[in-house]
Amino acid sequence: RAAELEGHLDEAASRKNNKRSRTMKAKKTALVAGGAGFIGSHICDRLIEDGLHVLCFDNLQTGREENIRHLRREPRFDLIEGDVTDALPAALTRSARGLALVYDLACAASPPHYQADPEHTMLTNVVGASHLLRLAERAGARFLLSSTSEVYGDPEMHPQQENYRGWVNCTGPRACYDEGKRAAETLAFDFDRLGRAEVRVARIFNTYGPRMRPDDGRVVSNLICQALSGDDITIYGDGSQTRSFCYVDDLVEGLIRLSRYEGAQPGPVNLGNPIELTVSELAERVVALTESDADLVYRPLPVDDPRRRRPDITKAHKLLGWQPEVDLEEGLEQTVAWFARAIERPRRAELR
Ligand code: NAD
Ligand code: UDP
Repeated sequence: RAAELEGHLDEAASRKNNKRSRTMKAKKTALVAGGAGFIGSHICDRLIEDGLHVLCFDNLQTGREENIRHLRREPRFDLIEGDVTDALPAALTRSARGLALVYDLACAASPPHYQADPEHTMLTNVVGASHLLRLAERAGARFLLSSTSEVYGDPEMHPQQENYRGWVNCTGPRACYDEGKRAAETLAFDFDRLGRAEVRVARIFNTYGPRMRPDDGRVVSNLICQALSGDDITIYGDGSQTRSFCYVDDLVEGLIRLSRYEGAQPGPVNLGNPIELTVSELAERVVALTESDADLVYRPLPVDDPRRRRPDITKAHKLLGWQPEVDLEEGLEQTVAWFARAIERPRRAELR
């Protein structure tokens, strides 16, 4: 009888899911919180291409108007300026009925930027997610959280699988971001468990590409800008720490597929490129590509800087048929070319 009851419950849940996904397909609006940022602006582009109406909500803290300037004349695109930690503006809540998807990408992602105002970072992650989840609940929209590999902290499991619970220092300078994202995941899964909103959680690993800020402070943008301008190339620590870098187009494809995944709650899903290299190796690649003669200089390793990081993407591959397509060489070339234009300093090779 218990099995019979479970069967009925499964059937009811699947009827409810089907109904939900039919309603979602009929709706045509997506909200992208953090849509003027690096990843968010690429998501806006993709959703517009796919025929949706896009509401971009951003406080322009690290995002830039120029990332979305090309969309401003698009009738299906609106920028609403505001902060997710405040009560959401009427312009957003009014559009709730048409919302199919809420992408929560709002939060500075670079350590120097998110550490500049740690209280705001924590509130952005937690209070911001709560506001956006409530909006998704009212709208009957699906909610996608851009969580992070930082939830694994300085990981003891390598590569990192989604079932690894992490090793995070809750009192360190990175905690406002790491613990903020962990709490946001908790909130999102509680909403999902209670049937208040259907959620998808992506754990994003280091991502790079066009539209990162030259002053972003993350390693790829720093090294490229330094190499292009002939400034010292800064390596923190001895450069033996590792990361795995995913090109932004690949990540966007993964996020879109996850947001449209129709199966039962998949739990958190790692999205990243599993090719791992040391920071020194990355610097060598950038120097070779830019033909830079800038010097390498060594600076202290930031507190709690993770030693190693590489995603296990088996789950994303199985559920979404997703894997990165752009290799590091190609992705770096695209990024260097973009930064060369962005900082208006042509590559040395082009000057010859
Ligand atoms: P980003 O700093 O370029 O973009 C963040 C955007 O959110 C910016 O436009 C910023 O102005 C906006 N924002 C910040 N706080 C806000 C607030 N309180 N209210 C409204 N808008 C706010 O960073 P990104 O690299 O594009 O990252 C986007 C998301 O992906 C973030 O949530 C980040 O945590 C997550 N993520 C990124 C990476 C990565 O490698 N880029 C890795 C893991 C997770
Ligand atoms: N890093 C570096 N030089 C820089 C910026 C960063 O060596 O100019 C290092 C940093 O200490 C870390 C790695 O590069 O070990 C990746 O740093 P990033 O801030 O890009 O991402 P995260 O640490 O959040 O993974």
